[in-house]
Order: sequence, then structure tokens, then C-alpha cells
Amino acid sequence: CSFAHFGFDEYLMEAIRRSEYEKPTPIQAQAVPAALSGRDVLGIAKTGSGKTAAYLWPAIVHIMDQPDLKEGEGPIALIVVPTRELAIQVYQEAKRFCRVYNINVICAYGGGSKYEQSNELQNEGAELVVCTPGRIIDLVKIEATNFLRTTFLVFDEADRMFDMGFEAQVKSISDHVRSDRHCLMFSATFKQKVERLARDALVDPVRVVQ
Ligand code: AMP
Repeated sequence: CSFAHFGFDEYLMEAIRRSEYEKPTPIQAQAVPAALSGRDVLGIAKTGSGKTAAYLWPAIVHIMDQPDLKEGEGPIALIVVPTRELAIQVYQEAKRFCRVYNINVICAYGGGSKYEQSNELQNEGAELVVCTPGRIIDLVKIEATNFLRTTFLVFDEADRMFDMGFEAQVKSISDHVRSDRHCLMFSATFKQKVERLARDALVDPVRVVQ
């Protein structure tokens, strides 16, 4: 499998070239075509597998496919991760690939300034938001953002989100994002709670394993 198989536009191809990635990782080779075809995806993959790009690239394609890109301010793509560290890491990777487009990326995690994150969301808006579960719910509650135009949803490291006690928040996000969303979920392990979330949040997912 080569990157050419994905059918990405020249901008994304250039960003990938600049990353000096030689070829797609196994998880990318499986998950990207499934996601681009519009299917929900359940990926069992660990850090180091290239899972971040496996959901970021389809998220970018999805955002660029929206005709009303500049209407409304809530995220078109919402990426939910368990920790501040992972949020920052995913945010940096997202910025790297979004730079070539006019896609605004915002990072909102617990422990950071709610005031600053709220201002950023309200003043700039963002097509892509990387967040931790509790913080994004807080920001929606104070109407700093909303899920009205969120049509691409990712849960990354789902098992860790449960280990950290975010079960109710994750369920709430899944319930509040419109049901016609495209949803991808990644987890290092496939435990009962992950299976339950997959059943609730995903529609007939393609299963991919690292
Ligand atoms: P991740 O599993 O998403 O945390 O990615 C682990 C590391 O692999 C990150 O530093 C990525 O930049 C890098 N990476 C992602 N995709 C590829 C690829 N196709 N080839 C080489 N490295 C990659």
C-alpha cells in the first residue's frame, strides 16, 4: 500500500511528503480507506502504530468536503482523547497537516485555562477541536462552543478514557453529537466497556487491528 492509494489531494500529499513518511503503517493502510469510504471504524491499535494520522487524514478530508466551511463556529471534527499530554500531541500533529489548508485547530484540555480556551473557541471558532472529555462538556455547558455542526467524531485511547473514569462524559459526548455523524474509535485493548461504547457509538464498524 502506498499513500497514492488514498486519493488525497496534492496539499495533503505534500504535507505527508514533508513528514518523510515512506508508506502507510498497517493501521493506516486498513483504517484510512474504510474511513474515506464513509464507514465507521473500530481500531485496535497502540501508540506508535500511526493511529493518529489514520484518523486525522480522514477528518481533514471530511472537513474539506463541507460546503459551508465558514458557517457556524463549533467543530466539524471533534477528537476526544483521555489526557492533556495526548491532546497536545494530537493537536501538534493536526496543526502540521492542517497548515496547508484554511482549517483552524483548537486544543481544549482539563488543567488548561478554561477562560482562554473559551475565548479562543468563541473568537476564532474551529473546524477541528482536540479535547479531553470533561473539558469539552464544560465548554459546551457555558456555550463557548457546541456540537451543532459536528459530523466527524473520534474517540482515541477509549480504554484509557474508561480507566480514567470518563465513562459518563464519553457517553454524554456520543449522545449529544448528532446521530448522522461519522465516528471512529481507537483503543489499545478491547475490554467490555470499549465494546459497549463501540456498540452505542458506531454503526456497523469496520474492525481494524494493528
Ligand atoms: P501514533 O501511533 O499516531 O502516536 O504515531 C507514532 C509516530 O509515528 C508519530 O511520531 C508519527 O508522526 C509517526 N508516523 C505516523 N504515520 C507514519 C508513517 N506512515 N510512517 C512513519 N511514521 C509515521
